[in-house]
Amino acid sequence: MSYRKDTICVQGGYRPASGESRIPPIVQSTTYVYEKTQDMADLFDLKADGYFYSRLENPTVAAFEGKVAALEGGAAAIGCASGMSALTLAVFTVCEAGDNIVSSSAIYGGTFNLFSVTLPKLGIKTRFFDPDAPAEEIEKLIDGRTKLIFGETIANPSIKILDHEKLASIARKHGILFAVDNTLATSILCTPFSWGANLVLHSSSKYLDGHAAALGGVIVDGGNFPFKGNARYASFNVPDESYHGLVYADLPSAPFAVKCRAQMIRDMGAIMSPQNAFLSWLGCDTLALRMERHSSNAKKVAAYLAGHPKIDWVWHASLPGNKYHKLAEKYLPDGQGGMLSFGIRGDVAQSARFMEALRLVTQETHVADARSCVLHPASTTHRQLTKEELAEAGVPENLVRLSVGIEDADDIIADLDGALRSV
Ligand SMILES: *Cc1c(COP(=O)(O)O)cnc(C)c1O
Repeated sequence: MSYRKDTICVQGGYRPASGESRIPPIVQSTTYVYEKTQDMADLFDLKADGYFYSRLENPTVAAFEGKVAALEGGAAAIGCASGMSALTLAVFTVCEAGDNIVSSSAIYGGTFNLFSVTLPKLGIKTRFFDPDAPAEEIEKLIDGRTKLIFGETIANPSIKILDHEKLASIARKHGILFAVDNTLATSILCTPFSWGANLVLHSSSKYLDGHAAALGGVIVDGGNFPFKGNARYASFNVPDESYHGLVYADLPSAPFAVKCRAQMIRDMGAIMSPQNAFLSWLGCDTLALRMERHSSNAKKVAAYLAGHPKIDWVWHASLPGNKYHKLAEKYLPDGQGGMLSFGIRGDVAQSARFMEALRLVTQETHVADARSCVLHPASTTHRQLTKEELAEAGVPENLVRLSVGIEDADDIIADLDGALRSV
């Protein structure tokens, strides 16, 4: 039975048996007991489903994974310690030294650092493209060692909207995995698998948890990529000596998720904790309601800012004049999310003065939870980047990132209005 997203939000990932707790228990245990040696051996051999050690799987984490996989329409999901660990583990599942990633340049600052500084030290290089570039230009970056094409549905903090179908068709033509970071859209506003993506990544620290309470990340395997016989993905087609000669491409479903868990989670261990999985599972109960409100509030705030004489520019795809308005009509028809960026006229000092004058909206590194907050990326999340890199990432120096919460829109606008008076 396939339910709609609002139903999956409250019912997905956990179905109690008679007499069991209505919501998933927090299974705060590292390990699980078995009476028969063979039962445990079968688990180690992946011949049976079950739990033996919480670094690999835990029932509370599994409930959250099930809910996110169902919301995205994926085959399997893996709960990770954070969004960054989800990204790192996903890359390591397919990339080795000598391989490369072809990535949109409009991405989260942490991901940009991972791709441009940390991974190259391990021999994995990234070639960046402008997400608005024509397909032929992006294709030129691909070679025989390209293992991943990557972009963000709604880019953080440039609010660019990704043309999923354009990238999916390039990826399909060359037999390459197409991975989408869907953090700021969430599966409520966009499901990348329905546009041809093969992997979806989330920082669940944002809207999925929704309350700024729990760090987490999720890797969702679409189960729709033909690994079998694809020479580009040799590691899926040869026996894994560290797993009794298992050939991942031969698995009936979700070979990416199985390889990621069996190798990367096993060896690197950056798994989600049961406590954070519980909070994130619970947070998702209201995800559909919250995304609706985040989107309608942000639309009102964007319209207000766009009409303010002290505002230089506003980026939110709900604005009819926005460069991504058309793409948003296609990919985000039910709402364009709560994230917007804008620039205040004048020098960079004006941004600081504005932010410090806010009373309701707080200054935080975080985004995408119930409470409205602002950040100045050039002096915080993106401060490692040079002026040129900032421009390449689509982050002007005066950019203020505003994460619109679910408060009353009029109160948010009144606060912004008061703070703009002091500029
Ligand atoms: C926050 C964020 C991440 C990183 O997630 P963490 O949970 O903070 O590690 C990755 N991608 C996007 C789009 C994000 O907003």
